[in-house]
Amino acid sequence: MFSHPAFDDHERLIYAYDDASGLSAIVAIHNTVLGPAFGGCRMWPYANESEALTDVLRLARGMTHKAAICDLPYGGGKAVILGDPASEKTPELLRAMGRVVEGMHGQYIVADDVGIGLADLAVMRQETSHTAAATESAQAPLPVTAFGVLMAIEAAVAHRLERAELAGLRVAVQGLGNVGGPLCRLLKDWDADLVVTDIDAERLAATQETLGARAVAPDEIYDQDVDVFAPCALGAVLTDETIPRLGAKIVCGGANNQLEAARHDAMLAARGITFVPDTIASAGGVIDFSRERVDDRPEAVLTAVTRLREITADVLARAAASAETPLTVADRIVRERLEAARLARRAGLST
Ligand code: NAD
Repeated sequence: MFSHPAFDDHERLIYAYDDASGLSAIVAIHNTVLGPAFGGCRMWPYANESEALTDVLRLARGMTHKAAICDLPYGGGKAVILGDPASEKTPELLRAMGRVVEGMHGQYIVADDVGIGLADLAVMRQETSHTAAATESAQAPLPVTAFGVLMAIEAAVAHRLERAELAGLRVAVQGLGNVGGPLCRLLKDWDADLVVTDIDAERLAATQETLGARAVAPDEIYDQDVDVFAPCALGAVLTDETIPRLGAKIVCGGANNQLEAARHDAMLAARGITFVPDTIASAGGVIDFSRERVDDRPEAVLTAVTRLREITADVLARAAASAETPLTVADRIVRERLEAARLARRAGLST
């Protein structure tokens, strides 16, 4: 772990195995200075353990950044279960995962993610109370991440294009799943012009039909003449190969870890493209979690998520003022908050 390229001072790494249920999982706790680590549990048929480890380390770090940029009292963590959710997800396996979370005594709070839904969290709750969506109303699926992406797009469009309205805005959406699907519907409600893609041909055809979106092949999405490119599928899509092809002036989407490497942030800036860090655009889930504990009504949660518009606007304004990239600014804000909390904790311990 310590020499791993994705290691970034992670606090803990736990390998969990349960022979009876077939559970193989890794939990990464990135940072708990601001509070207990919050983050989703992903179930995915990783090609090997090394791929799973890289994923969990990167995703856990991202969760620390999401909570810190939103100034919430949570740290960052993530869990991955190695396996195919379609064929290997059983109640026994989910309960075994629940026991792993319980064994961490609240240091990690588990949420849903790719391959693990709200119903699966309910099964884990048979073994642990440290889960998201624990209240009745919070169990109804709410498109908080997509709504957060919409808020970030609104702020980026106001900043970069000086437009207050989304009507007529041309947006290319990559991936039409839990995030991209609702995002398209929200954008359509505001009369945006959509170009969409997905490797799932049925999903693509359905979005084309129901929303009147223009469908393109997966690889063509980068070349579209649009205002905004919204990656909502996998990570590492902003690369040496794709960035020169982008027609958009803004990149803002819900996918985690969109940059293939750190240097691609500068590459986007050099092309004059405003990149909204994905740790801001996709932070709706952690705001949802913090809000649902106080008031779990859907309207209260969505109102809380509107904060992402102000957070995005603030980061973009600061970046413009200091001639830095938004990611540089966001990372600095996170570092400063973590350092302040660390010093406060140390001072508290020594008095
Ligand atoms: P999902 O599995 O529901 O949807 C992903 C979609 O992308 C699928 O329809 C899939 O077919 C499509 N896809 C995969 N590869 C593609 C490609 N190369 N080109 C085009 N389409 C492709 O996943 P999701 O929950 O919507 O999450 C999407 C992204 O957002 C992930 O990176 C996830 O980590 C991130 N994210 C999700 C949430 C959430 O609440 N679901 C929160 C924060 C971040």
